[in-house]
Amino acid sequence: MTVLDTLAATLAPHGDIKPGEPLSRHTTFGVGGPADLFVTVRDAAALAAVTVATHDAGVEQFVLGSGSNILVADAGIRGVVIDNRARAEAADSSGALVRVESGASFAGFARKMCRLGLDGLTWAVGIPGTLGGAVVYNAGAYGGCLGDVLTRVRLQDHDNGDHWIEAADLGLVYRGSVFTRGQFAGKTVLEVEVRLQPADPVALLARAAANDGKRLGAQPRGRNAGSMFKNPPQSPAWKLIEAVGLRGAERGDAAISDKHCNFFVNYGNARAADVAWLVHEAEHRVQEQFGVRLEREVAFVGEW
Ligand SMILES: Cc1cc2nc3c(=O)[nH]c(=O)nc-3n(C[C@H](O)[C@H](O)[C@H](O)COP(=O)(O)OP(=O)(O)OC[C@H]3O[C@@H](n4cnc5c(N)ncnc54)[C@H](O)[C@@H]3O)c2cc1C
Repeated sequence: MTVLDTLAATLAPHGDIKPGEPLSRHTTFGVGGPADLFVTVRDAAALAAVTVATHDAGVEQFVLGSGSNILVADAGIRGVVIDNRARAEAADSSGALVRVESGASFAGFARKMCRLGLDGLTWAVGIPGTLGGAVVYNAGAYGGCLGDVLTRVRLQDHDNGDHWIEAADLGLVYRGSVFTRGQFAGKTVLEVEVRLQPADPVALLARAAANDGKRLGAQPRGRNAGSMFKNPPQSPAWKLIEAVGLRGAERGDAAISDKHCNFFVNYGNARAADVAWLVHEAEHRVQEQFGVRLEREVAFVGEW
């Protein structure tokens, strides 16, 4: 029996296990090779238990939300991929302080809060991904970001166990946090708490619909992972990519969108290597022509 076979038996009571599951089925890009062990969990207790057992077995782990901000290598991810579908929600007596498990859909949660007359997330209704992924990237749009309403998160890690940490200690910045800077490696977000303000639901839904409209007009349809690069201070990333002649550039089934040059898209069966080639090309040309180092927003993960 291998270490992974033994671990699979340990994890079986906590979730559904699929060895060798293709990650192309679980990323918005539709790209990515297999996970050695793919474990689907459905509540925060199971998410915590799998985090602990995987660490104790000395096996690498990757927590997967909706796979909307990652490019998974064609060779896939070694070790355990935890497919987080923990989605339960709880509110305090005032209704304005809301706790939700980290596998809940961020867009779905934001829309529900608007319907309930709770203000603070009208900008988030079109952002794919889970609450856990939104914490990691301090997701944001149209002048708002999660950090504006986040009060604290519940974490599982091997040093401190299951505990809450204040939002102020997460180092939240534009599309980044202690997670993206590698300071919280091995820690799993179990639950998220936000503070919202009572407001008129009709007005909130109207604001949300206006943001939806803007998004639909600006972004390409089809398989992608949102903005590939953060916007450098000098200029929006799309303008730099367009200026170096890469609007609509293609490699295999991967392309730089001709609608929005900071979106890289999969028109069919793109390989991660094709997307990566285009990313490197954009980085290289922008550095050469403008002396600007593009910083990736989408994370390259797995065995490259
Ligand atoms: C069409 C499109 C539009 C987008 N628009 C926006 C936008 O307007 N604004 C914006 O900010 N983003 C946007 N994004 C990017 C993306 O939706 C966000 O970054 C989102 O928050 C990622 O969440 P996820 O659950 O998909 O994370 P994943 O891609 O699954 O994971 C991303 C990272 O977070 C880690 N992670 C996920 N869950 C946990 C957890 N519970 N505990 C610890 N680590 C975890 C993963 O290990 C990984 O390192 C867009 C993406 C797409 C496809």
